[in-house]
Amino acid sequence: MAQNIGIMGGTFDPIHLGHLAAAEEARARFHLDRVVFVPNGRPPHRPGYLPTPAENRYDMVVLATASNPAFEVSRTEIDRPGLSYSADTVEELRRRFGPDTRIYFIAGADALLEIPTWRDPERLAQSCEFVAVSRPGYDLTGLREALPPNLLSRMHMTEVPGVHISSSQLRRRAAAGEPLRYLTPLPVERYIAAHGLYSQYAPEPPGPGGLSAPAGRRGRDGRRNLNYEEEVRQSVAVTLYVGNLPWVVSEDELVQVFSRIGEVRDVRIITDTETGRSRGFGFIEVEGVELQDAIDAMSGTELRGRRLTVGPGRPRSQRY
Ligand code: ATP
Ligand code: MG
Repeated sequence: MAQNIGIMGGTFDPIHLGHLAAAEEARARFHLDRVVFVPNGRPPHRPGYLPTPAENRYDMVVLATASNPAFEVSRTEIDRPGLSYSADTVEELRRRFGPDTRIYFIAGADALLEIPTWRDPERLAQSCEFVAVSRPGYDLTGLREALPPNLLSRMHMTEVPGVHISSSQLRRRAAAGEPLRYLTPLPVERYIAAHGLYSQYAPEPPGPGGLSAPAGRRGRDGRRNLNYEEEVRQSVAVTLYVGNLPWVVSEDELVQVFSRIGEVRDVRIITDTETGRSRGFGFIEVEGVELQDAIDAMSGTELRGRRLTVGPGRPRSQRY
C-alpha cells in the first residue's frame, strides 16, 4: 500500500520537545502515515563530546514517542555496524516500505546546511524528498542561499513553531542540576535521573562573564539544597526492569508485577517495533529496600506463563 513516511534522524542525546514538535508538524503538513525516528548509531565526531550510549538514547526516543500512534522508532542505525549514513538508512527503509512509498527526510535547517558534507547527498536526494524545518537561530532563507539547486528542488521548506531547545542545552542543564521539566517529556526526564545520565557532562568553558554550573546550591539556612537529580532519585527509590515480556501486555499487568516491591509510581513498556521484543520499566517508591533485595523478590515472577528476567534500571549493556 502506498504510504507517506517521514524519517527523523538525530543523535537525540536526549530527545526533546523541539524534535517532537518538528516531527508532528511535518506529519500533519505532509499527511504522513507515520514518522520513523532513527537514533544515530555513531554520530559524527564532535570535539569534546562523546555521545551517550546508543541504547540509552534509543530508550529515551521510545519513551518520548510512545504516546503518539503515528511515531515509531527504528534500530536500523544502532544495529548497523560502522558509521551511519542517511543514504543507507533511507534505502533500507524504502526496501521495507516498498517502492510506492513517498519518503520525507525531516531535518532542521542547521542540519541541512551541512548536507553537502554528508556521504552521497545525491544518492540520498534520489531516494527521498526533504522537509527542511525552521529552528530558532537558523532560518530557511539561509538554506536557499547555501544549497545547490539539485538538492533544493527536492526540499520542502516548512516553518514550524519555534522551540528554542537543544540537546546540548539539556545536557548542560542536567549536569548543573537544573530542571528538564517541560523541555522533554516526563518519562525522559525520569529516565535521565534514574540512570544518572549527563551528571558527568563537562560544560563548555564559560565565556567572558559566564557563570559556571553550580554543583548543588545552598539554601538560605546554609544547608545544601538537593540538586534536581538527587530530588528525583529520592522519590524514585528503585527503578527495575523486567525483560522477556509477552508481546501483548498492559500497563496494569505490569503494575501488578511491580507492586510486589512497593508503591508503583510509573511503569513503561518499551517495545521494539522491529524485533517485537518488549521490556518494562517500573519506577517504584520504597523506603529502605536494597536494590538486590527488590530484584530477588521479583525473581521467578511469571506473566502469562512467561518467566520474566529482572534487573536494575539500566536496561542493557553499553556498547560504546
Ligand atoms: P545537539 O545540541 O546535541 O546538536 P540537537 O538539539 O541539535 O542536539 P540533534 O539530535 O542534533 O538535536 O537533532 C536532530 C534533528 O532535529 C536535526 O535535524 C535538528 O536540526 C533537528 N532539531 C533539533 N532541535 C530542533 C528544534 N528545536 N527545532 C527544530 N528542529 C530541531
Ligand atoms: Mg544538533
